[in-house]
Amino acid sequence: MTTTSKNPETIGLHGGTYRKDESQTSVAVPIHQTTSYQFNSAQHAANLFGLKEFGNIYTRIMNPTTNTLEERVAALEGGVAGLCVSSGQAASAFVVQNLCSTGDNIIASTDLYGGTVNLFSNTLKSMGVEVRYADPVDTKNFEKLIDEKTRLIYAEVLPNPSLRVFPIKEVADIGKPHGIPLVVDNTACPVICKPIEHGAAIVMHSLTKFIGGHGNSIGGIIIDSGNFDWSINKDRQPNIWKPDPSYHGVVWGDAVPQLTGANIPYLVRARVVLLRDLGSAISPFNAFQIIQGLETVALRMKQHCANAEKVKDFLKKHSKVQKVIYSTLHKGEIGERAKRYLKGGYGALMGIELEGGLEAGKKFIDSLKMLYHVANIGDARSLAIHPASTTHSQLSDKDLAAAGVTPGYVRLSIGIEHSDDIIADLDQALNT
Ligand code: PLP
Repeated sequence: MTTTSKNPETIGLHGGTYRKDESQTSVAVPIHQTTSYQFNSAQHAANLFGLKEFGNIYTRIMNPTTNTLEERVAALEGGVAGLCVSSGQAASAFVVQNLCSTGDNIIASTDLYGGTVNLFSNTLKSMGVEVRYADPVDTKNFEKLIDEKTRLIYAEVLPNPSLRVFPIKEVADIGKPHGIPLVVDNTACPVICKPIEHGAAIVMHSLTKFIGGHGNSIGGIIIDSGNFDWSINKDRQPNIWKPDPSYHGVVWGDAVPQLTGANIPYLVRARVVLLRDLGSAISPFNAFQIIQGLETVALRMKQHCANAEKVKDFLKKHSKVQKVIYSTLHKGEIGERAKRYLKGGYGALMGIELEGGLEAGKKFIDSLKMLYHVANIGDARSLAIHPASTTHSQLSDKDLAAAGVTPGYVRLSIGIEHSDDIIADLDQALNT
């Protein structure tokens, strides 16, 4: 590590082992646009393939540019190791596939990104993995769904559109005695939430959003806290404790701590089995682009959150807005959770419900002049979308209602422009 700092501003620039390029001394992380790596000798190659030592083999499985991104985001999250993949969707699929086979189940929060719901309710189902949904309003809902085939619990820290912060510690504590890890999607809250500190075993991000920030590259990452006790019930996690025939019968739970000195069998298995077999590698160029975003994500999050506060206060008073949905505006325990789990700001995501339902939502979107109308969040630019007709349009009416999408709901991702300009554009669109 080049820094032991716990401050996100410093980690974004110095986290991980990269200090300079060893051959040319360049400070900016080079783009290693290569597929392959020359082995030192036949023995060296055999050792790498036999997992007797770690090193570069082939960019589908690892790459030096990507490695810097993995180390820095892992440091940002307070984890031990990271694995980049081609998109946030690939990360969501990998985190489940890494522990589940046909006949297994996971328990997922009902508050999820629509794409994750599609993946879970359709694609994973077709592969024989059952997803059981629990409403986080009452954390006991998670406990009730556990059986001997439950491999993990999955949630999002700040899911949209509900924007109800997830009870991370409460649910992590339910899983731990059973040997069930909590996997948390922290896409909406880099820097302002550290799920590992609250008990999450695994954290994932769509790097496409706030971490990349510039809206130019798709990517995903999985981070291993390194502190989950996989051995508490070995029958619970066959992918960690049963011999793996694809690696001459290796038992990841035993071999990885011996090889790396770290409790990261989950992450190493995801790399050397899933990335090897499924091939959802991020390109080194995208990893480089996302590193440029990572260098300033701590600064940007401050501006995103400060702007969001001002926009929220403005919208709350606006006569055309029926309701503002924001992490701290929920009543009671859910609003309190935002204050407990988010530090340094309460997020950039916001919802508004407009008088006039579907038509009012569409008219508002069409009237925006500065805000972009895009299917994305977490860009440096302010963004807006109408979920019922776009991102959530493939969900059934029942799933839509469960996700909190009403016909007049508009999702806003508040950017880092001057707050006066964001407010002026929203105001003119509301008054059109
Ligand atoms: N998780 C969340 C919370 C998201 O919002 C998204 C995309 O919108 C994803 C995962 C999927 O990420 P990607 O678009 O990088 O595949």
